[in-house]
Amino acid sequence: MKRLRMEIHGAVQGVGFRPFIYRLADSFDVTGWVCNTARGVILEVEGEETVLLRFGEAVEKEKPAISIIQDVTREYLEPVGYNGFEIRKSIGGERKALVLPDISTCDDCLEEIMDPENRRYRYPFTNCTNCGPRYSIINSIPYDRPATTMAGFHMCKKCLEEYESPSNRRFHTQPNACPECGPHLELWDHSGIILAERNEALKRTASAILDGKIVAVKGLGGFHLITLASSDKAVLILRERKGRKTKPFALMFPSSDMISSFCEVSEMEQNLLRSPESPIVLLKKREDHGSSKKLSDFISPGNPDLGVMLPYTPLHHLLLQEIGEPVVATSGNLSDEPICTDEKEALRRLSGLADLFLIHNRPIARHVDDSIVRVVDGREMVLRRARGYAPLPLRMNEESDAILAAGAHLKNTLALSIGNNVFISQHIGDMETPQAVKAYEEVWSSIESLYHAKADKVIYDMHPDYISTKYAVESGLPAFPVQHHIAHVFSCMLDNGLNPPLLGVSWDGTGYGTDGTIWGGEFFYIGKESVERVAHMRTFRLPGGEKAIREPRRAAIGLLSEMFDDPAAYIPSDVFSKKENIVLKRMLKNDLNSPSTSSAGRLFDVVASMLGLCQTNEFEGQAAMLLEYAVAGVETDDSYHLLLDRIAGKPWILDWESLINDIIKDITTGEKTSMISARFHNALAEGIVSVAELTGEKRVVLSGGCFQNVYLAERTADLLRKRGFTPVLHRKIPPNDGGIAPGQIFAAVNLFKNK
Ligand code: ZN
Ligand code: ZN
Ligand code: FE
Repeated sequence: MKRLRMEIHGAVQGVGFRPFIYRLADSFDVTGWVCNTARGVILEVEGEETVLLRFGEAVEKEKPAISIIQDVTREYLEPVGYNGFEIRKSIGGERKALVLPDISTCDDCLEEIMDPENRRYRYPFTNCTNCGPRYSIINSIPYDRPATTMAGFHMCKKCLEEYESPSNRRFHTQPNACPECGPHLELWDHSGIILAERNEALKRTASAILDGKIVAVKGLGGFHLITLASSDKAVLILRERKGRKTKPFALMFPSSDMISSFCEVSEMEQNLLRSPESPIVLLKKREDHGSSKKLSDFISPGNPDLGVMLPYTPLHHLLLQEIGEPVVATSGNLSDEPICTDEKEALRRLSGLADLFLIHNRPIARHVDDSIVRVVDGREMVLRRARGYAPLPLRMNEESDAILAAGAHLKNTLALSIGNNVFISQHIGDMETPQAVKAYEEVWSSIESLYHAKADKVIYDMHPDYISTKYAVESGLPAFPVQHHIAHVFSCMLDNGLNPPLLGVSWDGTGYGTDGTIWGGEFFYIGKESVERVAHMRTFRLPGGEKAIREPRRAAIGLLSEMFDDPAAYIPSDVFSKKENIVLKRMLKNDLNSPSTSSAGRLFDVVASMLGLCQTNEFEGQAAMLLEYAVAGVETDDSYHLLLDRIAGKPWILDWESLINDIIKDITTGEKTSMISARFHNALAEGIVSVAELTGEKRVVLSGGCFQNVYLAERTADLLRKRGFTPVLHRKIPPNDGGIAPGQIFAAVNLFKNK
């Protein structure tokens, strides 16, 4: 006989871990106890040594699906002679257990809400230890009901019994609720007058949506605007009201079978759709979809993909079942504002957008958007990290001080490190509206208290005009800048658990360089304590500065003016008026508001403009997206060329001049756009490999918004592998600027050891 003592750290609280241990002990016929501690779970079991060995293995192998074990310690001791097995009272102390993300409805709960005999039949707020709201309802830790937005609801006798019974699926389920004692639905008109309640509200919402109405629905982490996906009219009205011309809308489908009839779905994509995170998954549209129902062409015009998700709360399940067909479920906001979370606020902010409001009385503690993922190079890549992922930490190999990272500007997030965990806030959005800045302020002021930590220093982007920079510098904490593209590389390293040395490729639209120019096509040797910019794209100027970031045609004029006296001759003729051309020429000649850039993203803009695909961007990265879609299935190894060149003592330069000349030749001879686009992408991939071959570092980290481009990411990864390199792509941290904040922290940990 022996006694096994296990201490388990990670996301092991509020996930049914103790009941799981209780049942496991029962099935192994061992005695002992289990309890929560400040850092996780601790347990002791007594039995024969071989049994204990298998028990220990089973703990890790059969753990609840949504729990995450970060580390386990095992100790074998002399037995003390326990009788039976018990769940003991929690041991207090310093709180380090992880806050969990919101988790999609589990199969057991789904079965209950569909069962007319069950007391939770059609109850939209059903949840259990294995599923339901977490991050979106937590005000502070430890995670107990009074610390959540469920504090105002008092459990009825039946719910309390479930809550207190160790063998019950709802043992210590903090948001436990039923129709008797929990939150309920109401359908409101514009002025907040109640039109219907509970099940009636749900039914009337469904029929309004089927009638082509737009309904603002309060969900888990905020409001959606929901309308019928098959109706051109409804979708166009939504576009007009939201002020969103072509940016794709996300869809919610009643079932995964229905998704398969509209989209191509691989096994991995299927698993992502049905995962506890339940994100929006970007899927290829099927050319000849097998369903008799259609989807409006205005959902994602000119885009071969659809962003789709499955219902992830009982409310969404019941609503979609009632509607029986896919709906547009886009975030409840005006263009780029953060998602709306409060019903009173919704009446104000969304009254011009929605016809009706389906609301409920469970407050949302913080906005949490739907996450977006896609499969790239055979793996999951998170493009927007929010519901289901936030606030789970990434792990570093070493402990650090508490560091706060302010992030950048677009798609912004904050991050905070405690010990060797890096916590990333939910997606906040573009810091361009007062609402976004307010949301940023809220996250800034609450992130430390949420984790009971106090930051020792703060890291920010070098851009002097970013609002995030201002917050960092004025915070009163010791503040240190990290260059934007270096932060991108460290973000991908953290994401993949890598330490220096390696080669970092950092390609995006814009970032402030250490020399005050705009960077974006960068290569870094990341050493143990230093970083060297080993290469970059050849620079060109952007007439109009900020404006040129939104207008690919300006980038085109800027680049082409480096090669030709009459740059306008090489883009479609009607793009600029004669007068505008003269103004642009003068700007460039006199170097007025025409900053220099080495951005790869802007090079995409130039080519998209030359090909007539996009002259002004409606949203960030649109021109690059259109250029990616233009490849449209062409398979070729044909490529243009980027040439490597250097002035001694300076970084290598990837020169696009011959590539641009070849594109002009191909346009003149009438080559297909798809072919030109494929050759362009192939040239970029070759260019990356040629720099990798120069430096010789085997591991090549690919980061920055450009690597959301599936063709570029996969082509580059393939080529690198073929030539003996190991490509590293993003997984759980976005390659775009949503990943800057955690990257800033990991950069600081590696580079500022003595600060
Ligand atoms: Zn459940
Ligand atoms: Zn109840
Ligand atoms: Fe960036």
